[in-house]
Amino acid sequence: MAGTRIGIFGGTFDPPHVGHLATAVNVTHDLHLDRMLLVVANVPWQKVGTRQISSPADRLAMVEAAVAASPLLDASSLELERGGETYTADTLSELSAQDPDAELFLVVGADAAAGLDTWKRPDEIRERCTVVVVDRPGRRNGRPPESWEYVHVPVPQIDISSSDLRERFRDGRPVDYLVPPEVLAVITRRGIYGDAA
Ligand code: ATP
Ligand code: MG
Repeated sequence: MAGTRIGIFGGTFDPPHVGHLATAVNVTHDLHLDRMLLVVANVPWQKVGTRQISSPADRLAMVEAAVAASPLLDASSLELERGGETYTADTLSELSAQDPDAELFLVVGADAAAGLDTWKRPDEIRERCTVVVVDRPGRRNGRPPESWEYVHVPVPQIDISSSDLRERFRDGRPVDYLVPPEVLAVITRRGIYGDAA
């Protein structure tokens, strides 16, 4: 019998938004995945030093709230439990060890895809999964470097980013309909982006 088809959508999710969620459900549908893990990065080392990052616990709580109602999407704390800097190669290796028959699909937005060569142990990533690229408005729809095989899945183009959302919180502009209400409730309860939420 064929193994479980598992999607892996990693991110900082600071905060998760409808762009992430629409992408996740559409890729799951298109590739007939059994489930999709939204994997919260512990220390997103490529972002460290560029800005303040909300705590892993806060980001996990937001992702859990975001997927609570979905039978196909799961929040994964694998990288938080492992601790330290977040390397996708380690995550793939851990998931393969947990379920050796599983088929892994790594979902990356066009901006992330273009930088795949800068990730740790790219050969191991290539070996362990199928890379799935989704376009993203305003990101010049990057592709992986030439040596990478990948599949491209069309998803609704939603021009939204966590950076824009953090600015909205800072400026007191609306975030309604960009972030699910369940996530907004967590942000308010935990005071993640200050009083503005
Ligand atoms: P930030 O602005 O803080 O970088 P982000 O919105 O890019 O936040 P990340 O957590 O960095 O979110 O992204 C995780 C993954 O989701 C990446 O592969 C990214 O390309 C993808 N992604 C983010 N937003 C979208 C979107 N609107 N449509 C499709 N993919 C997206
Ligand atoms: Mg990003």
